[in-house]
Order: sequence, then C-alpha cells, then structure tokens
Amino acid sequence: MENPIIISNLNDFVFCPASIYFHNAYSGVDELTYQTSDQINGKAAHETIDTKKYTGAARIQSIDVYCEKYNLIGKIDLYDSATRALTERKKKISKIYDGQVFQLYGQYFAMTEMGYDVEKLLIHSLDDNKTYDIDLPENDPAMMKKFENLIKEIELFNLNDFRQNNPAKCLRCIYEPMCDRSV
Ligand code: SF4
Repeated sequence: MENPIIISNLNDFVFCPASIYFHNAYSGVDELTYQTSDQINGKAAHETIDTKKYTGAARIQSIDVYCEKYNLIGKIDLYDSATRALTERKKKISKIYDGQVFQLYGQYFAMTEMGYDVEKLLIHSLDDNKTYDIDLPENDPAMMKKFENLIKEIELFNLNDFRQNNPAKCLRCIYEPMCDRSV
C-alpha cells in the first residue's frame, strides 16, 4: 500500500505541492528561521489543542484518525459529541479556501469511518471569533468530486515533473529563497 496521505497536507498540496517537500525537509530546523509570524501565531493557536488544554465535557480534541477509504492519516482539531460538530480552528480566516475544506473533509471521512457521528463541519476563525458552516461532502457533489480528484493527483504526483506557474503563490511562500521551482 502507498504511504498514507497526511490530512494537513491536503491543504498544503492545494497551495503548492513543492511546499510539502520543504516543510518536511525543514521541520527539524529552528522553526523561527523558516516560519512567518502568521504561521507562528497559527501554531500557537493550535498548541491549546495539541497540549489538550481545552476542556469541555462532550468535546474531544487532537486525536489521531485514519481513513482507509482514502488512505488518510492525521489528527482532528475539535469534535463535539453533543452537537456532532467537527471543527477546524484557524488563527485568522479572511476567506475559505478549497484546501481548508478538503482538510476538514479528510478529518470527516476518518471520523465517520471510525464510527463517530458527524453532522456538522465548521471552520472557526479565532482572531475574530467567526464560524463558517461547511456543507457535508455528500451535500456538495462538486466539492466532493474535487476532493477525490485531489486524492488521485496526490497519489500520482512526482515532484521532479512539477513546475509552479503561479508567481503570486511564490511571492507569499516562506520557502521561496531555497526553492528551485519558484517563479
Ligand atoms: S516558492 Fe513557489 S514553487 Fe516553491 S514551494 Fe513556494 S509556492 Fe511552491
């Protein structure tokens, strides 16, 4: 079997597949050297979850999940068994990107396969305390098709053949200085 796809990589892959390579390559290096302040703030927001400081009787957070159907592995952010809501919290959301939705889909498919009842998908922006409802994948066939195409694309991806063609992405990419595919 192919190596599992890391759920958080779904979002990174949509931004730029090469960024996953650099993220993995530099993950052991001093993070302050390679992370923008936005990323550091975002990570701090998630530390509350990762260190299990969040309390709530009906809530679980930061559990490892696996989805056999799409061969996905990762962690969820928050699941509330009372409301059956699965939430991904981000530091600041100004716009919902497809990659963020696919990341939540990955968590959803893993949780439902593992027997959890999930009826709501939410993305929560911590800075402005806004919550965005995301349709379940079965209620959004167009996004579901995009999600499945993304899984196939990741399975077939070869970094050697990849060329970035969107300069705007490279301009806001922290890996630009060391990336030989930058445009
Ligand atoms: S610099 Fe451009 S091509 Fe390289 S990882 Fe960043 S976005 Fe991708």
